[in-house]
Amino acid sequence: MTIKVLVNGAFGRMGQITVKAISAHPALELVGQTGREYDLLKSIKDSHAEVVVDFTHPSAVSDNLNIIIEAGAHPVIGTTGLTADQIKVFQEKCKKLRLGGLIAPNFSLGAVLMMKYAKDIVKYMPNVEIIEMHHDNKADAPSGTALRSAEMMASANASINQPQNKSIETIPHARGATHHNIPIHAVRLKGFLAHEEIIFGSTGETLTLRHDSIDRECFMSGVCLACEKVTKLDGLVYGLEEIL
Ligand code: NAP
Repeated sequence: MTIKVLVNGAFGRMGQITVKAISAHPALELVGQTGREYDLLKSIKDSHAEVVVDFTHPSAVSDNLNIIIEAGAHPVIGTTGLTADQIKVFQEKCKKLRLGGLIAPNFSLGAVLMMKYAKDIVKYMPNVEIIEMHHDNKADAPSGTALRSAEMMASANASINQPQNKSIETIPHARGATHHNIPIHAVRLKGFLAHEEIIFGSTGETLTLRHDSIDRECFMSGVCLACEKVTKLDGLVYGLEEIL
C-alpha cells in the first residue's frame, strides 16, 4: 500500500523537486499538487491525501497547517516562519486528535547532524555565534535552521554567552539578532543556496561547524522519510532528528 501525498506550494523551488521525489518513491503516491490559487481543503478531500507536504511562504504556513489538520491529513511542514508559541498550539491540537505530523526547519541530514553536534560542543564551549547565508530570494530572516540551532544549543547549556559581550553597537544591529542569547547574522546574496556556520570561541581557539546545501536534492530523502513516518505518529513533532 502506498501513502497518498499532496504537495502544497508545488510550483515553487522546493515544491517542484518534492513533486519529483515523491513521484519517484516506491512507497509514496503523488495525488495532488496545489499552489496559491487552489482551495487547499477541497483539494485534500478530493484527492484523499493522507499526507500534505507544505513548502509555501512564512505568511501562509499557519493557515495551511490549520487547514491540513482540519482535513484530518498528516502535515509535513517544510515552510519556515512558525513561532515557538504557534508550534506549541499546533502540537496540542494534534495531540488531542492523535494526529501525526512533522515540522522540520531543515530536511537535510548534514544540517541535522550539525545541530546535533553543536548541542554537544556548546556544553564545553558556551561562547557561540551563528552566521547563516542564503539565496537573495529567501522570504524570511533569520533562517528556521539558525533558530532551531540556537534552540537546541540553549536546551543543552543554560549559560550560553555569559557574561554578555560588551561591544557597543555604533551602527544598530551590527552584532546581529539574538535568539536564546546567541547572536545570529543573516546573509542574503545571489550565489548562495543554504549555508550555516556555528562558531564556538574559547581562549586562544575557535571551532567552526559548517553545513552547505549545494543542491535542493539534499532535502528530499528527509522529506520522503517524513511522509512515510508521520502516518505512524500520534502527535506533531518538531525537527527531523525526532524521527531519524
Ligand atoms: P518559493 O520558490 O517561493 O516557492 C513557494 C511556492 O509557494 C510558490 O509557488 C508560491 O506561489 C507558493 N505559495 C505562496 N503562498 C501560498 C499559499 N498561501 N498557498 C499555496 N501556495 C503558496 O520558495 P521555496 O524556496 O520553495 O521555499 C518555500 C519555503 O520552504 C520557505 O519557507 C523556505 O524557507 C522553506 N525551505 C525549507 C527547507 C527545509 O528543509 N525545511 C528547505 C528549503 C526551503 P507564488 O509564486 O505565487 O508566490
